[in-house]
Amino acid sequence: MTTVPFLDLKAATQELRAPILEALTRATDSGWYVLGKEVNRFEEAWASWTGAAHAVGVANGLDALTLGLQALGVGPGDEVIVPSNTYIATWLAVSAVGATVVPVEPSERTHNLDVARVEQAVTARTKVILPVHLYGQAAELRPLMALAQRRGLKVLDDAAQSHGATVDGVRVGGLTHLTAWSFYPGKNLGALGDAGAVTTSDAVLADKVRVLRNYGSRVKYANEVRGVNSRLDELQAAVLSAKLPSLDHWNQRRVAIAERYQRELAALPLVLPVLAAGVSSVWHLYVVRHPRRDALQAELKARGVETLIHYPTPPFLQPAYPEFKPQAGRWPIADRFAKEVLSLPIGPHLTSAQQTQVIAALEAACRARG
Ligand SMILES: *Cc1c(COP(=O)(O)O)cnc(C)c1O
Repeated sequence: MTTVPFLDLKAATQELRAPILEALTRATDSGWYVLGKEVNRFEEAWASWTGAAHAVGVANGLDALTLGLQALGVGPGDEVIVPSNTYIATWLAVSAVGATVVPVEPSERTHNLDVARVEQAVTARTKVILPVHLYGQAAELRPLMALAQRRGLKVLDDAAQSHGATVDGVRVGGLTHLTAWSFYPGKNLGALGDAGAVTTSDAVLADKVRVLRNYGSRVKYANEVRGVNSRLDELQAAVLSAKLPSLDHWNQRRVAIAERYQRELAALPLVLPVLAAGVSSVWHLYVVRHPRRDALQAELKARGVETLIHYPTPPFLQPAYPEFKPQAGRWPIADRFAKEVLSLPIGPHLTSAQQTQVIAALEAACRARG
């Protein structure tokens, strides 16, 4: 029995080995290694791909979120509404600017922020709503933007998992005030190391992030604000430019695999992913739920299928956030999801035979489990 890997990153790099090495050679031979032609080239390409007017490359996804919040003027005393069931980076960005995290539960169907609950969580101190397009499915940005408009708030969306996901047919990236991206190697568009970006259609916000990422400076040795060093690396920008032309068809392969899973797993006693009306997913992850998840995962492992859990511990139960632990009962959905979610192998290089093995293993495991 061969093992089905959760995600084959090496295959993605192998497929594009020649254009990646060509891009790296170009960057190596340029003689200019920080904020040069490669970052400019990728920023233009990424703005155009996402449909946003501006893209600003930064060092990673966490910095994209943090600098985005800073550009929106978020700081101590402000509240930011975040999902209770996200990757901890979403929360850490809010904490990094000294603001207060206000966790809101997801919809049980989509795993994305529940708009009605967001509305109830808004207070006089709320400044930003920070939805995450979790697992690749676009969050319900239209009602969130309408709510933000009504209450005078800003929306910063965490698009680390959703390169190409759409709302009413339009790609995320230019639909809110600011969008934060990660190009961590395992994301749908991944660098060969850390990388990130912010996109926006607001020239003033783009400019603020551009200055913040580079020591608060526009002109060398003139520091307007207390910025940081969070520049997108030239070599990573070159790699991203080489990979971007493949993103659409790689996303399409993910969609085809997800559609097959949806069809062929429908009869099993699993909760399969559900999309909200009007949105699409780029299937960064294919996440099912099962009440005895750990046993199911072990059965799959015994049948050669690698799975992962996104995420085993919600942020409010992490030692990093001890103040939330006593109130953990306030987020029962996120708490239960952490015990029930299981991510199946999905990715542009998962072969048809591997998909068949995943489906057969699940059928057998569910029979064994009942
Ligand atoms: C990956 C990820 C991030 C952080 O990105 P890094 O580039 O690793 O800093 C933030 N939010 C979500 C939802 C992610 O999946």
